[in-house]
Amino acid sequence: MHAVRNIRLCTKDCICLFVCPTGATDTETGQIDASKCLDGCRLCVDACPSHAIFLLPKNYAPQKKKSETTVDALRELAKSKARQEKLAQDLSDTTEDPIIKQLATTLVRSNRILQEDLHRESGFMLPQSSTTREFLKEQLEKNTEEKDFPKEAVQRLLELL
Ligand code: SF4
Ligand code: SF4
Repeated sequence: MHAVRNIRLCTKDCICLFVCPTGATDTETGQIDASKCLDGCRLCVDACPSHAIFLLPKNYAPQKKKSETTVDALRELAKSKARQEKLAQDLSDTTEDPIIKQLATTLVRSNRILQEDLHRESGFMLPQSSTTREFLKEQLEKNTEEKDFPKEAVQRLLELL
C-alpha cells in the first residue's frame, strides 16, 4: 500500500508533513512520493483533518473477465446511448432555440462519454489493441444490414489501426 493525497480536499495545513517519518508527503508537486512511503503506515491518513489522504494498493489484481451476458448488456446500453446521441445531435442541428441547442449539445457530449465508458467497461477501449480490431471486425460482420451503422468509418478505422 502507499498513501495518495487528494489535492482537491487538501487545505494545506501541512500536518502530514510533520507526521510522516520519511518525508514522503513533502513534495513540490503536492503528490505524495510513493517510493518513500513506508508501505502505508497510515500516520498521515489518520492525522489529516480533511480526510484528503487515502491508501492505495501498489499492485492491483488482474481484471476479471466479464461474462458474455454482461458484455452484451453493456453493448446494448452503448447502442442505446448512440441512438440518444444521434437524436440529440439532430435536435441541436435543427432547433432555433439557443437554450434547447445548449441542452442538446450537452446531451450529445454526455451520451458520447457514456458510450466510451461502456466500451471501456466491455474491454474495448485501447484504440491500438488487437481486441479493438476484433471488436470492429465483429461489429462490421454483425451490422452489415444495419443502415445506421457507420461502415465506412469503421473500415477506415481498421485500416488506420
Ligand atoms: S494533513 Fe491533509 S489537509 Fe493537511 S496538508 Fe496534509 S493532506 Fe493537506
Ligand atoms: S503512509 Fe506513512 S510513510 Fe506513507 S506518506 Fe503517510 S506517513 Fe508517510
